[in-house]
Amino acid sequence: MLKSVVKFITLFVCFCLFLPHFISSDSVNNNVFAEDIPANSVVSDTYIELDELAQTDSPQFDEEELLLSSQVASNLLSNISALQNRRIISIRETISKINTNIFQEGKKTAESSHELNERVSQIDLTRPVIALTFDDGPHYKITNRILDVLEQNNLRATFFVVGNRISSDNAYETLRRADALKCEIGNHTYEHPNLTKLSDIDIYQQFEKTNDAVYSVLSKPTTLFRPTFGAYNDVVKNNIDAPFILWSVDSNDWKDRNSAILSERLLSTIKDGDVILMHDLYETTAETVEIIVPLLIEQGYQFVTVSELFALKEVTLESRTPYRRP
Ligand SMILES: [Zn+2]
Repeated sequence: MLKSVVKFITLFVCFCLFLPHFISSDSVNNNVFAEDIPANSVVSDTYIELDELAQTDSPQFDEEELLLSSQVASNLLSNISALQNRRIISIRETISKINTNIFQEGKKTAESSHELNERVSQIDLTRPVIALTFDDGPHYKITNRILDVLEQNNLRATFFVVGNRISSDNAYETLRRADALKCEIGNHTYEHPNLTKLSDIDIYQQFEKTNDAVYSVLSKPTTLFRPTFGAYNDVVKNNIDAPFILWSVDSNDWKDRNSAILSERLLSTIKDGDVILMHDLYETTAETVEIIVPLLIEQGYQFVTVSELFALKEVTLESRTPYRRP
């Protein structure tokens, strides 16, 4: 009996102790819920709808609507997946193309620098060396006349070509012949404008379009740049990523169309290390080359490309830098 009384008292005391806790706990939860409902009435309505839905034992959904939604979602997912796959493939293709180009360019650069060193090592250091340079071509008739002289004497020269002249089979053939004779092909803009009067993008395009034209024929880009009219400023330099090759002897062959005058001028001026400016556009220039080359050979002159001349004189050609002679 006593045991029962003690048990009852213990249970009663426990009940009294826990009762306030249950009450405060509920009130706290209610407060939190009230604070969580946003003030926005639309959202509040949604909460209420959701609450009502949750209290329904088996909420009724429109089956057709559900099916349609799942089809739309499925289509969307497959489209996203296809797009991603296409993007991944195109990124992979681009990377692969870039890698191939880097590899080929690297191989070509290594080959050409090896070839350059090889040719420079064959130059006789005890004899004078010059670089004949021809601007504004290619010209099928004149350039080939000059190439005939070079080929007959096993000589090399540099041709600074104008890009828009490289648009016929004759021009392709002439360029390939010059390249086969180990001549150097430089860039002399696409349309021969005065670059100091052009915008950044136009300057850049004048250079790049000629590079592309040469690349499409020889599968290699031009290495050197000669500014038209010898005119350049900081804007031109900023937009053309190549050494700027000027000249130390000007033939003035565009002004004096007389091979006797030109020959005399050049023979009395040329010295070791000179870069000579001519134009492969005029009959009189081709005649002058035919006259002076045998005479200069007799004097011991060797004829090399611009890159070979600077390499021989141990001058490293830097991009965006003007050079007249090494
Ligand atoms: Zn020119």
